[in-house]
Formats: sequence, structure tokens, C-alpha cells
Amino acid sequence: MDVFELEEPIPSETNRQSPDQNVETFSFLTPLNPEQRMAVEHTEGPLLVLSGAGTGKTRVLTTRTAYIIEKHLAKPYQILAVTFTNKAANEMKLRLEQMIGSAAFSVWLGTFHAIGVKILRKYAEKVGLTSDFAILNTDDQVRLMKNILTEQGIDIKKYNPETILEIVERWKDKAFLPQEVSARERTTQLGSLAYDFYARYQSRLHLLNAVDFGDLLLLPIVLFRSNPDVLEEYQSKFRYILVDEYQDTNVAQYLLLRLLAQKWHNICCVGDDDQSIYSWRGAEVDNILSFQKFYPDAAVIRLEKNYRSTAHILGAASGLISHNEARLGKTLKPAHEKAEKGYKVLVKGFWNGMQEAEWIATQIESSRKRGNSLSETAVLVRATVQTRLFEDAFRKEGIPYKIIGGFKFYEREEIKDAVAYLRLILNSNDDLAFLRVVNKPKRGVGTKALEAISATAREKKISLFDAVAWAPLKGTVRQTLDDFISLIKSARQKAETALLPETARFVLEESGYLRMWESEKSPEADGRIENIEELYNVLHEYENIRDFIEYASLVTDTDDVADEDQLVVMTLHASKGLEFQNVYLAGWEEELFPHKKAIDEQGAEGLEEERRLAYVGLTRAKDRAIITYANNRKIYGHWVNALPSRFIDELPRDHIETDSGRKSFASLQPAWQNKQFYFKNNDDETSIFDKGQWKRENFHKESDDFYNPPSVKVYQTKETGSRLGKRVHHEIFGFGTVIHAEGERLDVRFDSGEIKKIMARFLEEA
Ligand code: ATP
Ligand code: MG
Repeated sequence: MDVFELEEPIPSETNRQSPDQNVETFSFLTPLNPEQRMAVEHTEGPLLVLSGAGTGKTRVLTTRTAYIIEKHLAKPYQILAVTFTNKAANEMKLRLEQMIGSAAFSVWLGTFHAIGVKILRKYAEKVGLTSDFAILNTDDQVRLMKNILTEQGIDIKKYNPETILEIVERWKDKAFLPQEVSARERTTQLGSLAYDFYARYQSRLHLLNAVDFGDLLLLPIVLFRSNPDVLEEYQSKFRYILVDEYQDTNVAQYLLLRLLAQKWHNICCVGDDDQSIYSWRGAEVDNILSFQKFYPDAAVIRLEKNYRSTAHILGAASGLISHNEARLGKTLKPAHEKAEKGYKVLVKGFWNGMQEAEWIATQIESSRKRGNSLSETAVLVRATVQTRLFEDAFRKEGIPYKIIGGFKFYEREEIKDAVAYLRLILNSNDDLAFLRVVNKPKRGVGTKALEAISATAREKKISLFDAVAWAPLKGTVRQTLDDFISLIKSARQKAETALLPETARFVLEESGYLRMWESEKSPEADGRIENIEELYNVLHEYENIRDFIEYASLVTDTDDVADEDQLVVMTLHASKGLEFQNVYLAGWEEELFPHKKAIDEQGAEGLEEERRLAYVGLTRAKDRAIITYANNRKIYGHWVNALPSRFIDELPRDHIETDSGRKSFASLQPAWQNKQFYFKNNDDETSIFDKGQWKRENFHKESDDFYNPPSVKVYQTKETGSRLGKRVHHEIFGFGTVIHAEGERLDVRFDSGEIKKIMARFLEEA
């Protein structure tokens, strides 16, 4: 790819004057380096900023927006800026406000989905919807697909509705309408089934006046293609288009951008092919790799200075990613203020996942005691199953934390219920919301009653909500449903004058919904009530139900925000674009990271995507990156032997220091409490790296049981029978009694009450 040709040599940063003395300079330009400044000032024509992590791409986009406005090249509302998450959009808005004041709020700034909704609300009827269409959440989608499949006599045990939905979603990512799905996509049985049901699913959505997430991109494309006048309106409007994280756009997003940019051609995309991590959700890294093919007159600017991380972190990340073949290749240099090498990346092994989590918790707690803010630290995991151990460890240490990604607030049952109540108050035609709450809490509404209501609704062509009055219902069901309907109606009335949290509180209390959780004496139930309280807090920020619902429908799993002094635990996927002083990268083990599924399903490509994920993780760290792994991990209830990730092998030695828990197990425990231990250089350790490879095979053979701490004495008794009932001691689990013996495998009931299967040689006689 050609690099943008600079017409004049770039003056060195220190003695640089304004590039053009006749042009006024803006203070927000001053901190930029010459390449960044070039990217800001090169406003006309397509531009790609292709560069590695932390080189200021996002900063360039924000500054560029300010520059366009302040130079009067366009009004704020004539600029479209697209970010990857709502959170990133909010951050950009704030930065922009700092630069140019309230004009920042008129810029069309948001995720593709948010922009899609905005356009669709205005022109809903042109795609067969009304402007108050509902946006389905994943749950609704699955339920809908399930209904359609069952109605057609498909066995949903054999054909999982979620799998079919996923195929449909990938088609939507590619902007295929049902009739556009190619024969090639339908060759498999599932593919052809999904094809059959795609059209049905769409028409059902239509009937419900609803859209799903994919439609928020697909329908604007449909709208533009069939209404040239509407397209013209937006093409003329958006004089400048700016896109962050371009490497993770999908085909539908690409098409949308192409349509919108057709008139002015002022499209600036920034991204990093090494950070493309969403192919499993339909992202096409080709969008960035082929930018110049799509826009032949495009300029390309590369930024090389990384302002985020120390030289060691960058060295480790660059060395790792160089193992990928499919990449453009970029250089990353630390900016001068980061040129001090800083700490090496620490690689540390543990006996099991629990110890890993506890050690990390202790480190974080002691850093907090030294006065460091928790929000400067993040723990990044590959899979959400890893987070529970951290929750336990942080709770034990009393560290406030928040889990982001995968555990979406708005996907919790109680929140979905509460939101469904609000949706129904807003719009009685929202049949899905009706179905969600009509019998929650239990109102004795069974299948029969529901069938009667549905039949009436179909016959009269009215909503389920309105059909209640007409349906042939008797006795208590009639009574409770009438009460339910009038409750919703009075809540609707209340909403006209009351504040949003009051309306919500009213409906959740009067309906008996809160009581339902209060009377359930499980620990989760308390958490649910707390979550609902939290929802009231959120509601305070919205003027009316409509605005809130719009917001809630667009929140994605990466948007959850952490409070000021809270530690965040998040998936690597969710960490994209963010930065933290200290980053713990936990669970670097084969099968977990790289994740088995990625390799099983996508082979070499899957592995490369996992490696990019590792690169994203490492480059989130400003000062310290700590990689940890465990030798034993409990996954879905089973202990598995884990091998250190191959990515650890691939880190260049010069930039890391190692500390293998396995080697030094016996001495490790006291060392954890010793804060000195933390970033100490383990010069005395003959590192496993000295042996070249990790020697995974040997490693594997040695640790053939999950509980075999390397330093325990061997339980020598020869005869199986005589072991039964014996008191034994285990390094980790303490004292216990053998309750079952099968060859070398013993079942031991430890004094803690836990029963574990343990190889005899890892026990000693007590
Ligand atoms: P990523 O690829 O991770 O999204 P990015 O390329 O978008 O990274 P930014 O987040 O924009 O990078 O910038 C990384 C950090 O460097 C931020 O803290 C930013 O404020 C800082 N930074 C960027 N450019 C400069 C500069 N010229 N001088 C000082 N700091 C800078
Ligand atoms: Mg960025």
C-alpha cells in the first residue's frame, strides 16, 4: 500500500512552526506530531490512517472533527463520526467538547447502530415500519425464531434456534436480504433451513413493527437503495465522514459508508489490521486491507509513534504479532517520553486459577494501599468463565470491581423484565414485551389463556394487550389480567407527569414484581433487587421512556461503565481502544488462549485472530503488563491440565521476565505476601525460556493430575486396600481421609468437607 506522499519534508518537532503561516492554528493541534497533524489537516478526499495500537488514531479522529468545525469546512451536523462502542462515542463527545465547546453535541457521533436507528426512525414508513418500531434484544430474537420454527413443525432440539439465528445474522452482516442469499450459502442442511426461515423471520419482525440489531444496518441500506431522494439527502448532509476501528467493520457497514460518502468522498477511516478481532461477528478485515481498491484516490498515512506504552511492552507486543503471517506489517516506536524502557512484561505461573486470581487480587490491593487508583488497573480475560474466580478473590480482598463484557447489565433477567414493563407502558403494541411480563409475577396465565388472547389478536388484527379485553377469559384469569391491563394504563398516565424512576417504581411495586424477588430467599434475589435499584439510578438520566428504551436497546456488552474508583475485569474483546496504567492478562494457557474453539473452527486463521487479541491486550497497558497462567484450571466443572500458552513462547525474551509458579511452588506462597516480590527481577531463576521452547510435552506428562503440586512427598503405601480409611495430607487441601481407592486414584474427603480425586503420589501419610 502506498504511503501518503508528503509534499515537503516534515520539520522536526521541536522547531516546527505553523505549517502555513497564513492559516490560523488551533491550540488543539499543538500536541500532535507531524504525521498526526497531516492526518487532521488532510481533510479532502478519502484518507486511511493505518497504524498500530496507541499511535493516536482515535485522537486524530477527534481532533480532525474539531478542526473541520473550527475551520468552517462544515457545520457540526454535517459531520458523521462513527465509533465502535457507545462508550467510545461518549468519550469522543467529551473530548470534542473540551476542544470546541457545545458544538460538539451537534455532530452525528455514535455507533453504526445508533446512526442506523436515527435514520430509520425518520424514514420508518419507507421500509414498512412505523417510527415507534421496537428494537429486539437477543432474547426476543431467540424467542421469535423459536416460535417460527415450532409453528412450522421443526424440532428445535435438533435445530437450535440460536444457531439458525446466527447464520441469519451473518447474512445480515453481509447485507444479504433473504432473496439475495446465494445458493452457495445454502448447501448445508442448516444453511438451507436458515434460508427458509430468514424470510419468515423478517416478515414476522415486520408484523411486530420490530427490528433486530442487524436490521439497524441492513434496513438503512434497503432504504437508500430504494429511495434515491433519501440517499441524496444524507449524502449531501454528511460532508465529512470519520470512522474509528475500521478494521472491525462488516460488509453492511462498509456498504453504508460507501453509499453515504459517494457525493463528497471525504471519508477518513482509521484502524489497525493487527487489531481485527471480530471476524466471528462478521467483521471483514478486507475492508481496511482493500481501502485503496475501494477508493482509488485514497491517501494513506501511517503513524508510528506510540504514546501509550513503554518500550518493553511495545517490544513484547510487536514481537508477538510478528508471528502472524497475514498482516501488513507496521513499526511501532515508543514516543520519546516513553523511551525509558520501564518494567519488563512479567510472566508468572500459578498452580491453579484460584491462586492466580488471589495473587492478582493481593497485588492490586497492595497497590491500592500505596495510594494508586483502582481505575488505573484492568484485568483482561479471554473467556467470561474466568471472571468468577476473580469475583471471589476481589470480594475477599474487599476490592470494588466491575465486570464488563459478556455480563451485560441489560441482559440480566430482572432488568429485561423491568425494561419490558416500561416498553409495554410506552407502547401497547409491543407484543414481545407483553409476553415477557404478562405472567411475571405469576398471574395464573397459562398456555390456554395465552392462546385465547393470541387468537383474538389475530382475528381482530390488534395487539395482545388490546386483545385481552375481547378474549374469552373467565374467572380469576379474567380478573388478574384486567388488573394487569389497568395497571399498565395507569402507569402510562403516571408517566405523563412523573419522573421516569417513579413510574418504574410504581409499576414494579404495584404489579407485585418486586415482591416476587423479595419473597424468594436466594442470594441471587438480593442482587436482583440491587440491580433494579441501579436501574432507577440510570432512569434518572432520562426524560421519558422513549429516550431510555432507545438507549437501552443500543447498549452493547462493551458499554457498561465503571465508576471512578473501580477495578474493571473485562474480556479482551471489550478492551479494544481503551488504556490502563497496569494490565493483568490472565489465563494465558493453551485451549483457553488461544481458545480451542477459534482453532477448531477456523484453523490457522483462528489462531492468528487469537494472536491479534493478545496483541490488543498487551497494548492496553501503559506502564505494566503482567501475564499469568495456571497449571490447572476448572472449566465447566472439570479440572483440566493446562499448558502455558504458545503466545508466551512467542514473546521476545528481551522484554519479559519470567516467574514460573511451577518451579518455585514450595517457596511461592510466602512470596506472594511479600510485596517486594512483585516486580523483582528473577535473575536467579533458570528460566524455562533458557530451554528454548516450553517443552510442552514434558510439561504435560509431568502434570498428569490436577492437584499434583510439584513439591509434595509421595504417598508410598503399596497396597490399595490398606489405603482406605487412612489419614492423609495434601499440600493444598490439608488433612483428609481416603474414602475410596481405585489403583493409584484415591477419593479423599478433606477436613474442609470437600471430596477430591487425587493421585496417591501427591499425598503423604498423616
Ligand atoms: P488503539 O489502536 O489502541 O485504539 P489509538 O491509535 O487510537 O490506539 P489513542 O488512544 O488515540 O491511540 O492514543 C493513545 C494514547 O496516546 C492516548 O492516551 C493519547 O492521548 C496519547 N497521544 C496520542 N497522540 C499523542 C501526542 N501527539 N502527544 C501526546 N500524547 C498523545
Ligand atoms: Mg483508538
